[in-house]
Amino acid sequence: MSFSSILGQDKTVKRLRALLESGRVPPAMIFHGAPGTGKFLTAAEFAKALNCSHLAHRERPAAPPLPDENDLFAAAAPAPAADPEPGPAILHSDPSDSCGACLSCLQAQSGAHPDIRVVDTVFQAAFLDEPESANLKIDTMRELTRWAQQKPMLSRWKVFIVRDAEALVPQAQNALLKTLEEPPPGTLVILTVSKKTSLLATILSRSCIIEFGRLPDASVKTILEAQGTEPARAAALAALATGSLEKAAEAGAFLKQISALRPGDPSKIFKFSAGLPRDSHKAREEVKTLLDLLLAKTRAAWRAADGSLKTKFTALLRRTLDLRRMADRNVSYQLLLETALLESERAGIKIEDLVKPA
Ligand SMILES: [Zn+2]
Repeated sequence: MSFSSILGQDKTVKRLRALLESGRVPPAMIFHGAPGTGKFLTAAEFAKALNCSHLAHRERPAAPPLPDENDLFAAAAPAPAADPEPGPAILHSDPSDSCGACLSCLQAQSGAHPDIRVVDTVFQAAFLDEPESANLKIDTMRELTRWAQQKPMLSRWKVFIVRDAEALVPQAQNALLKTLEEPPPGTLVILTVSKKTSLLATILSRSCIIEFGRLPDASVKTILEAQGTEPARAAALAALATGSLEKAAEAGAFLKQISALRPGDPSKIFKFSAGLPRDSHKAREEVKTLLDLLLAKTRAAWRAADGSLKTKFTALLRRTLDLRRMADRNVSYQLLLETALLESERAGIKIEDLVKPA
């Protein structure tokens, strides 16, 4: 794995490689873009490339076995040849990418690098010894600040990747701010975030913002195929994904649920909406994805229509957009979804149409 494993973000990767090449890496960076566009993967690759030593990693050869004292016929062991201990070979001299073979790269790849830490709600649950929470708390950021004060153990840089930083509560952001204001030398904090507005202005102003655009459909398809999805299904999901691997995964799950519905079943919409997650945060995200799919379908129908049909789809588009806006408020997501699906069905767009590519 190196930057070549990141597909569909060529401009962004080029910018990051230029930073590595220049040696002027800012102490705080924000990787901003829609969910499922490769922000975290790129942050991990950037941390790896930054700490790559480009020097071959040699395991020390094991000492030869001692001769068995009871074996009288054992030949005397030859004196071990003097180990010339050559200096480590330079593997890869491109400073803008990782070599994938030095000790630092091997540890980064195994997720066990002592100087690269991923801070997310899973890490927090283990660190605070409590169930996983939707928020990143002040105690977790205090731990990050404390660790930032220590020297790196293996490499030149200590890198913290705060994943999905919109989960940081304001007090936690304030605690993090101290590290961003006076970064200890050799410290890099990368926040990955899909909504910049969830971060304090003081955090934004101290960070170098790297934008991640939506992935081209062809890249989504290639990535899905590399993950084992068969080509026709990968193409269908890529068309529904709006450039996000997360949306592609959600669409894949919906595809499964929707294909299990009987098209003539009068209660199919209610059966489908009853399958929404209990967790309201997850339910809201799923409803938003479904409404986005519905909007894409309605726009396609609107483009193809004329006359009174066009007027009908214009009204449906307006109505679905209104419902999509409401999904950001504290409402019953199940009711919202049922309303949108019923109104669309009345205008001729059925739930089973959602899984057909536009
Ligand atoms: Zn390396």
